[in-house]
Amino acid sequence: MKVFINSRPYTATGGQTILEVARAHGVYIPTLCYHEKVGAAARCRACVVEVKGRPALATSCNTPVSDGMEIVTDSERVIEAQRFVIKLALSSGNHDCIVCEKSGECELQDAAYYLKIEDQDVRNGKHPADFDESSAFIRLDHTRCILCGRCVEACNQVVVNRAARVVNRGYHARIGFGLGTSMGDSMCVQCGECIQICPVGALTAKKSIGVARFRDVEKVRTTCPYCGVGCQLDLHVKDKRIVKVTGAEDAAPNRGRLCVKGRFGYDFIYSEDRLKTPLIKENGEFREASWDEALDLVAGRFKDIIAKHGPDSVAGVSCARSINEDSYQMQKLFRGVFKTNNIDHCART
Ligand code: SF4
Ligand code: SF4
Ligand code: SF4
Repeated sequence: MKVFINSRPYTATGGQTILEVARAHGVYIPTLCYHEKVGAAARCRACVVEVKGRPALATSCNTPVSDGMEIVTDSERVIEAQRFVIKLALSSGNHDCIVCEKSGECELQDAAYYLKIEDQDVRNGKHPADFDESSAFIRLDHTRCILCGRCVEACNQVVVNRAARVVNRGYHARIGFGLGTSMGDSMCVQCGECIQICPVGALTAKKSIGVARFRDVEKVRTTCPYCGVGCQLDLHVKDKRIVKVTGAEDAAPNRGRLCVKGRFGYDFIYSEDRLKTPLIKENGEFREASWDEALDLVAGRFKDIIAKHGPDSVAGVSCARSINEDSYQMQKLFRGVFKTNNIDHCART
């Protein structure tokens, strides 16, 4: 079908929303509560547009297009309505961008810039500091929260953990956890999905605060080293050190989701305690050895035990941190070479 946005014709398919068609063709419409992972909530009303023939402004995130629809995203009426929403959000908290981790990649900042909102339009006094620092890895700054609800939807729908929710009503509404507990004392599993989906600087990874601006990092796509699921990660690297990890939204199998280990457990890479060579224990003490020496020793011991006691005297347990191909090779070694079926995987139960 054909629709018109700001008098220009665009192709669209049935079932698409105005926002989806606009984004597909590079037409910017501000959004705050909408995210493709959790769908349209039509809560914030930042995405309103005019649709010819309709008296009221329509929320573009949940209004389906129809053939010949005429949409206006840049009229004075639309811009004023959007400016009102964004100004309210900006004045509701401490949106002092120069000290905010999210500056430069913040959806509220982008919307304010697009709508040409001036600083003096929204200064509303300083809000008292209001942090939830109870989580080991995540900081929630309530004064930067615009109550878009995306973290709640992500926790409920994407992670299906149901730790986060909106508590209280009206002016007193805020993000809460459990039955009045803090984030750290709730059933939050610290997966960080809520950080990833938060459009502003309200939820941040504690370890990444003050470490690097987004423009100073190089993103390196890799596979999580922790288990055989093989989640795809983007390492944010500055000066050859990892400063943050995010899930790769565009890649299977995780589509952005990570567990606490994959998202926050990267410090081990720099540990001085990491083994750099194989160690062989002699007379109760470890000594460094070459890979050839260590592998020859292990192979020789397997041969001795099997020769003396038979193939079923040995058993193997493959590690869940290994990739599936390694586990497959290990069972081939035990079944095909050692001639035993004593092979298992630590994650099987
Ligand atoms: S959340 Fe966005 S708008 Fe608010 S201070 Fe941070 S960068 Fe600025
Ligand atoms: S870290 Fe994960 S479990 Fe905890 S509130 Fe955020 S999305 Fe929910
Ligand atoms: S913490 Fe972030 S995602 Fe959650 S409601 Fe506030 S602004 Fe939205």
